Amino acid sequence: MLRLKCPYCGQMVDETELTPGGEAHLKRATQNSSDDELLDYLFNRRNPKGVHFERWRHTFGCGKWFVVARCTVTHEVFGVYKAQTLKPPKSVVDAIANRRGHETQESQ
Ligand SMILES: [Zn+2]
Repeated sequence: MLRLKCPYCGQMVDETELTPGGEAHLKRATQNSSDDELLDYLFNRRNPKGVHFERWRHTFGCGKWFVVARCTVTHEVFGVYKAQTLKPPKSVVDAIANRRGHETQESQ
């Protein structure tokens, strides 16, 4: 079972207390986006074998959304941070680079 530390309330919580929200750091389509860009935003998501940045909500706790950097193969967690963060913090990127090396570039 996946256990994550909520960056808002600081609790270590089981996966059953959380709700997955899919890929993080999506660029929202705008009124000026092409049809292909809108289609990509609405329907296409990355599903990497390796490090993935994903949104989770602490549903049965503080109710807030946060981002987890996790390996989809091993479930190794490299870091968690608040959902309002526009890109992965340096500490998370460094943790991935230190443990995975080459996968850092693929994940950004
Ligand atoms: Zn929380």
